[in-house]
Amino acid sequence: MAIESLIPVIEKKEPKMNTLTIEQETNPWEAQAARFDFAAKKLNLDQGIWKVLRYPAREIIVHIPVGMDDGSVEVFTGYRVQHSIARGPAKGGIRYGPDVSLDEVRALASWMTWKCAVVNIPFGGAKGGVICDPKKMSQGELERMTRRYTAELIEFIGPEKDVPAPDMGTDEQTMAWIMDTYSMHMRQTVTAVVTGKPVNIGGSRGRREATGRGVSVVCDQALKHLGMSIEGCRVIVQGFGNVGSNSAKILADKGYTVIGIAEYDGGLYNANGIDVPALIAHRKAAGTIVGFAGAEAADKDELLTYECEILIPAATENVITSLNAAKLRCRILCEGANGPTTTVADDILEDKRIFVIPDILANAGGVTTSYFEWVQDRMGYFWTEAEVNQRLDSIMTESFSDVMAYAKSHSVNNRIAAYMLAIDRVAYTTKQRGMYA
Ligand code: GLU
Repeated sequence: MAIESLIPVIEKKEPKMNTLTIEQETNPWEAQAARFDFAAKKLNLDQGIWKVLRYPAREIIVHIPVGMDDGSVEVFTGYRVQHSIARGPAKGGIRYGPDVSLDEVRALASWMTWKCAVVNIPFGGAKGGVICDPKKMSQGELERMTRRYTAELIEFIGPEKDVPAPDMGTDEQTMAWIMDTYSMHMRQTVTAVVTGKPVNIGGSRGRREATGRGVSVVCDQALKHLGMSIEGCRVIVQGFGNVGSNSAKILADKGYTVIGIAEYDGGLYNANGIDVPALIAHRKAAGTIVGFAGAEAADKDELLTYECEILIPAATENVITSLNAAKLRCRILCEGANGPTTTVADDILEDKRIFVIPDILANAGGVTTSYFEWVQDRMGYFWTEAEVNQRLDSIMTESFSDVMAYAKSHSVNNRIAAYMLAIDRVAYTTKQRGMYA
């Protein structure tokens, strides 16, 4: 059966798709495919390579039995999609959440290929996910589920094959369990099988903050590019997980004014700037940002439309859609999350001349420091935090200017420029290696 018949092919037309229903508009796989097709067309990509890169190379579905605390057995469905290994081992996080789907994991896997190529690190792209609600599971249940998921994937992952990392719903502890399970099967400790581990078991200094740090570097570069200054630069961040909280903290440290934070359970606004470390301390104590004394309560959805210089969606997909894009009042949209903006919204933002720093560039700091972690694990020699940060800063700065150069030379918006740069790099490698077809 031809692959086209397995995955719905969207029409290859310019991304002006205002006829889509909101369900179609927010399908992450279609969003990825629409941008890919548009960029591939601009590049005049060879038809064969187009077909190869449009679809994932491998999709694994596992059903994971887990002994629950009450003595029952539950079966969870998990995925690992490896989109490409053209430029190196597949690389990408594992997501735990009730809404995880194969289409979402497919899209996220492709985005990892493009992201690694944008920052020019020697990895392909992959993503994993398990349909579960980690907030409702005990640590013991999460550990058993993680270990069995790892065991089911044992022949597909490894330092030279596919290297998972944290994503939404997973963290350093999850990575420690994966590393341990993999190592037990291999009969030796293999730290380089995952990144985003705790620092004392082969993690990298600076990895936890890396995505937020990368976000701050591309914000600095965007201001420079647009002739704006940090002083008086107002920032609103949506999401206060790893990416959102670290972006807010690092930007505030650099002198930006973080005026708004939107979380799933409420929003905060302070025109004079929110004290981010104090908010982090409040959240740690209260379990929520709500009720923080240093800001007034604000509607979490409306916050996205407040006037600011930089808006940072740093949570999940489909936050900026045809329903709210026209209302945005930011100058720069910096995508800390993967896929926060739909294709229809892209067109609206372009009309509004909002400067978009696309996800595959903006949030690539995480996987870049994952690359450093993998390198350090393989060397068995660990860098200082200053070394990690300095290397991260220079890769993010260089990648930002690479994307700007593509946007200029091909007269395309920043998102399409980032896709074109990435596809060009992956296609070049594929051609150079030759195809085993
Ligand atoms: N999950 C993160 C991302 O979407 C990190 C991936 C990694 O470090 O491999 O970029």
